[in-house]
Amino acid sequence: MNCIFGIDIGGTEIKIGKFHYDKLLLKTSIKTDVSDQGKRILADVFNKIDELSQGDNIVGIGVGVPGPVVKGVVNGCQNLGWGIVEAEAIIKERYPDARVRVLNDANVAAIGEMAAGSAQKYRDFVMVTLGTGIGGGIVINGEVYEGATGAGGEIGHIQILNAKQRRCNCGKFDCFEKYASATGLVTTALELMQGRETKLHDLEVSSKNIFDLAKTGDEVALAAVNQMVDVLAGTLGNIAAALNPEAFVIGGGVSKAGSFLLDKLVAKFREVAFYPVADTEFVLASLGNDAGIYGAAYVARK
Ligand SMILES: [Zn+2]
Repeated sequence: MNCIFGIDIGGTEIKIGKFHYDKLLLKTSIKTDVSDQGKRILADVFNKIDELSQGDNIVGIGVGVPGPVVKGVVNGCQNLGWGIVEAEAIIKERYPDARVRVLNDANVAAIGEMAAGSAQKYRDFVMVTLGTGIGGGIVINGEVYEGATGAGGEIGHIQILNAKQRRCNCGKFDCFEKYASATGLVTTALELMQGRETKLHDLEVSSKNIFDLAKTGDEVALAAVNQMVDVLAGTLGNIAAALNPEAFVIGGGVSKAGSFLLDKLVAKFREVAFYPVADTEFVLASLGNDAGIYGAAYVARK
């Protein structure tokens, strides 16, 4: 039997899916060994592939990594301890008969939603992952847009203010993700709750609690959510004006707020976006943490 492996390498865990064409046969995960500059990561992946292939003919291996990638070369990856790693060539050397693709993890997640999730009817869309930070994947004509240095889709670092208010991990100030990620929402709530009455004073100020309280009408929580929505709508409106995608696919932990967030976001977007792009569709991602293995398998299959 022919099989394809879809692999999503994260900073703590490596998810591995074995597929027969587009059908997921099994999935498993191993720990990411980041010691010694991550030198053992690919060897560990190879061992697991060999164990799981069980004599099947490996025709494709797709891999997502948490760093910029251009044409199969990883351009530095802090979470794994990697510098420049020619990952596609290394994997190809070990599995010369397989079709091998290595892409950025946010990009393979976007492709995964197109392959098996809520973006199946789109070929031009932007995936927006709202978690601790904000990740993005730009898909044009069914293909990931990597950009010249692999930073294509890094929408979390669009600067939305010029006020030097919130410093980002990237070293700059006032990046999109400092305002519209889970972390950004918490920062905003902590600012707004000073000297004001809110049930947030009795709870852990987490993104989930802020959304839950906002739904009950807590004014401070609602104000924090609304600020987040304003930034999201404005920035996605700008992205839409540049790319004019068919849709935005919203994923990540924050998207668990579901229709409460999406309805607000869509309403605000329609209001603020440039008129020819104001009807851009919005959908919630549906594959969760499995998007990466589906996308990795898809790009290795094509
Ligand atoms: Zn930044």
